[in-house]
Amino acid sequence: MLCSGIPSPIFLIFSSDVPQLLYYSHLPALIISLIIGLFVYFKNKTLLSKILLSISLVFSLWSFLSLITWSSNRSDVVMMAWAPDGIMYLSIFVLSIYFAYVFFDKKDVSFTKKIIFGLILLPAIALTPTDYNLYNFDISSYCGPQEGKFFYNYYYLAGAIIFLWIVILAVHRYRRAEAEGGFRRQIVIMTIGLGLFLLSFFATGYIASLLDKYYIDFYGLFGMTFFMAMLAYLIVKFKAFDIKLLAAQALVVAIVILIGSQFFFIKTTTNMILTGITFVLSTVFGWWLVKSVKLESQRKEQLQSLADQLAEGNDKLQKLDNAKSEFISIASHQLRTPPTAIKGYSSLLLEGSYGKLTNEQSAALNNVYKRNEDMIALIDNLLETSRIESGTIAYEYKKFQLEDFLEDIYETLIFKAKEKNVSLEFVPSENPLPEITTDKDKFREVISNLVDNAVKYTKEGGVKVKAELQKGFTALSHDGSANSTPIAGAEKEDPEKDVIRISVSDTGIGIPETELPFLFQKFSRGKDISRLNVAGTGLGLFVGKKIMEALGGRIWAESGGEGKGSVFIVEIPTEVKEKEMSAQG
Ligand code: ADP
Repeated sequence: MLCSGIPSPIFLIFSSDVPQLLYYSHLPALIISLIIGLFVYFKNKTLLSKILLSISLVFSLWSFLSLITWSSNRSDVVMMAWAPDGIMYLSIFVLSIYFAYVFFDKKDVSFTKKIIFGLILLPAIALTPTDYNLYNFDISSYCGPQEGKFFYNYYYLAGAIIFLWIVILAVHRYRRAEAEGGFRRQIVIMTIGLGLFLLSFFATGYIASLLDKYYIDFYGLFGMTFFMAMLAYLIVKFKAFDIKLLAAQALVVAIVILIGSQFFFIKTTTNMILTGITFVLSTVFGWWLVKSVKLESQRKEQLQSLADQLAEGNDKLQKLDNAKSEFISIASHQLRTPPTAIKGYSSLLLEGSYGKLTNEQSAALNNVYKRNEDMIALIDNLLETSRIESGTIAYEYKKFQLEDFLEDIYETLIFKAKEKNVSLEFVPSENPLPEITTDKDKFREVISNLVDNAVKYTKEGGVKVKAELQKGFTALSHDGSANSTPIAGAEKEDPEKDVIRISVSDTGIGIPETELPFLFQKFSRGKDISRLNVAGTGLGLFVGKKIMEALGGRIWAESGGEGKGSVFIVEIPTEVKEKEMSAQG
């Protein structure tokens, strides 16, 4: 039978007689849900994606049939499309709770639960073909049947119960989940999405039938979008597939279908042309959008994989570097033993403990002794470098008098200077020097190396060592060299901090300006040094700088250039800060 006064729809669902909102609410939701359901399913065929696909299939079918009931003018068609409404509605709820269980527990539900799900659906299935479902078809104006009160109340009630069930289940699983690991977040997002979807679906359907205003039903479908959006978010979190691309595709397809569908209602040529242009434009731009999103996501993937590779490589390098430091450290320990024995025996020999030596023997043995000393210094430097790099250096702070300290260094190096015919002078300070607190042995290492270098790199003239108390740790007064690296924050934190400045100046070979910036780097040696036939490793200054940094001081070099001598300057605070003490032992 045909309803009076209602035009026949095109393709079952397109009619000019219904509010156009109908299409806007139904079609995009239908298409998006189908696309996402199918996509997730084909990406990974897990139980969860099967349930999701079922939800989206039932939902899409439900939307489609709903469109038919709205548009059709034939009573039999309307009845056929309307009759399964209850079953499908309930199925969506049952599938949703099934989905929630599998999502939360990551496994299928028990057989008992499946029976319960079936029992919930059973009355709806049994009553669908009866008068309890639909009756009294009205063909005159409204073109639809009455809904059976009992039947519809049953499924609204069941829907409400399932909705609450999901919420309670979610709260329970949330409590049970570990606070870390992000699963709680997933539960919240999932529940909000599913909850909003079901709530809008349930509430609008219920209100619509309560008020007899069926168009309210339209809005319920927008809830599906929430669900899909939340799902999409989760999927992005899981990185199951590229949701951006999918969203773009879904959007474009939905828009094109929506605009395309307008051709069926358009009556004037102008409208036809306008819609045609819109259609072509949106197709072209849509295609372009999808393409660029695809490109972007590919690029991102490439970048990500590059970044991963880089991180991996970096990790390997780090490990290699550690292994190297460890190797050097072990090797140096082993290497240190023989030269120490050589040193001991040769000094005993030199002292005449094993009988008097001839002058020639003495001279030769002296050479052995000196060469051995160089080797010890080299090994010590290597050891120190590896300790610095592995961060296993421990600093021991104590208070001591500077004058004695400098005297000590003088004693050990004057012999070497005399031998080279280089004068070595420790200029007394104008004011008495205070006691300082620092790691005495490490600090001695730094100053000794500077004086030793000054003697080493000076052929004629002399070396002068000067120590003065400086009130306040001020910014560098001179900045001739890039090596002058003030310790970060030191002067800002404590402008009034007293420092001792020790300068070691020589009249030696000097340092070319081009070499100044690299002086304190590992294994850095001047390019003409080999010609001088001076033993060395290029580690002394590197180690010195690291030690000075650790002690809260600084070190830098100045030179007028080649042949013009050099000055090495060290500044060290007289007091050590509490936190430095505890941090560095
Ligand atoms: P080494 O002396 O073992 O080569 P250092 O790290 O102590 O290693 O010094 C690095 C380089 O700095 C030296 O090779 C040399 O070129 C330069 N250098 C150090 N001290 C002086 C100095 N007093 N005069 C000129 N050049 C110096």
